[in-house]
Amino acid sequence: MRSERREGVPRAVHSMAYENAATLGEKCHRMLFEHGTPSRRSPEASPDEELKKEGRPMEHPHIPLEDLQVQVAACRRCPLCDGRTQTVFGVGNPNARVLIVGEAPGKNEDLQGEPFVGAAGKYLNELLAIAGLSREDVYIANVLKCRPPSNRDPRPEEIQACTPFLREQTRTINPEYIVTLGNFSTKFILKTDVGITRLHGTLQRAGRFKVFPIFHPAAALYDSKKREALENDFATLGELLRGEA
Ligand code: SF4
Repeated sequence: MRSERREGVPRAVHSMAYENAATLGEKCHRMLFEHGTPSRRSPEASPDEELKKEGRPMEHPHIPLEDLQVQVAACRRCPLCDGRTQTVFGVGNPNARVLIVGEAPGKNEDLQGEPFVGAAGKYLNELLAIAGLSREDVYIANVLKCRPPSNRDPRPEEIQACTPFLREQTRTINPEYIVTLGNFSTKFILKTDVGITRLHGTLQRAGRFKVFPIFHPAAALYDSKKREALENDFATLGELLRGEA
């Protein structure tokens, strides 16, 4: 189904807009996940002046999470807006050392407006405890902010439309670690085609961020092998956070 905003847009113009957005998205991705983002700024210097001084690429100022949440709630950039009960922005500690990135809201998340509720959410709480963390310590967000119908996989054009929000969340929270849960968030953050089965439990880098890919908790609910891998990986995450690994 098409959104109201797209109606009447000639196909050629529409595809040009997507191509431009794709190029811009690539540039933003490289700026954030390859060059990194400043963590502290002196109050006297403007952000641009300070970045120039440091010889680093210039970025626009961070957008407060509250403002970003308002933008997400009004977003109609992709057709998923038509099927949502509400957007699922993200939740947790805005100064978190660990940003957890899942895939997309499911049925319960869509109803409650919060990521990782229901069985997968309960299991995530147990996994966080293995790492010595609680929900209050971390920030949790998804690649997509609206629920795909019947919990189908996110489509490339939806990821492309929605991930500017995740990039802004990352820039604003500025975590030390990004824990990617499952294939979609891992492939997006690391810009890789290598799957989660090979990458889980290995420490990676994306710009200034340490990235630690782990299986998605929902995939492990009924798979004891994945469950064991998930629990081991969260134990390793705890060691990394404590400086023991
Ligand atoms: S999934 Fe993202 S881009 Fe698509 S309508 Fe929802 S918030 Fe907007």
